[in-house]
Amino acid sequence: MSQITIDKACCKGCNICLNACPKKIFVKSKKRNNYGTAMPDVKDPETCVGCRMCERLCPDGAIDVEA
Ligand code: SF4
Ligand code: SF4
Repeated sequence: MSQITIDKACCKGCNICLNACPKKIFVKSKKRNNYGTAMPDVKDPETCVGCRMCERLCPDGAIDVEA
């Protein structure tokens, strides 16, 4: 299973990752990042295929995937 983390100090809550992930692992949440905006949560990480599209498309480098 992949370890997927979102750095709340870097994430700005743009939600690009919600559409970038083919497995829809990122979901909206009420968690706040360091900017005070809502940041995504990680759901069902066991379905991650390790494609790293999320890492590549996050404009702030906030996502880390360890396959
Ligand atoms: S794409 Fe990156 S900055 Fe945007 S919500 Fe997702 S983790 Fe945060
Ligand atoms: S590595 Fe691919 S499947 Fe896994 S969370 Fe990122 S975009 Fe989704």
